[in-house]
Amino acid sequence: MAAAEAAAAMSQRCRSCGARVVFVPSGRTTSTGMPIWMILDAKPTKRVLLVNQVTGIPVNGPGHQDTVTAAWDTYTPHRDSCPQGEAWHGRRLP
Ligand SMILES: [Zn+2]
Repeated sequence: MAAAEAAAAMSQRCRSCGARVVFVPSGRTTSTGMPIWMILDAKPTKRVLLVNQVTGIPVNGPGHQDTVTAAWDTYTPHRDSCPQGEAWHGRRLP
């Protein structure tokens, strides 16, 4: 299953505000080895990232010889856009 399909499969609505959100693995785990999921706004925002021209991998800033720009879809953590985000920040589900 492609990453986009996996993300779509985890699409739900926020229980606090009703906005469409997606659950995506953060790549991190808890101290007991359980995956930590991020809750993101479902609609991406097109942004310009700095990437290595050879590898296409994003870099953390300008100033490298092989750095170029690339337009990417980026996602906002839903806790930052949810009107009730402060209330459920740090909890497992909105
Ligand atoms: Zn919400």
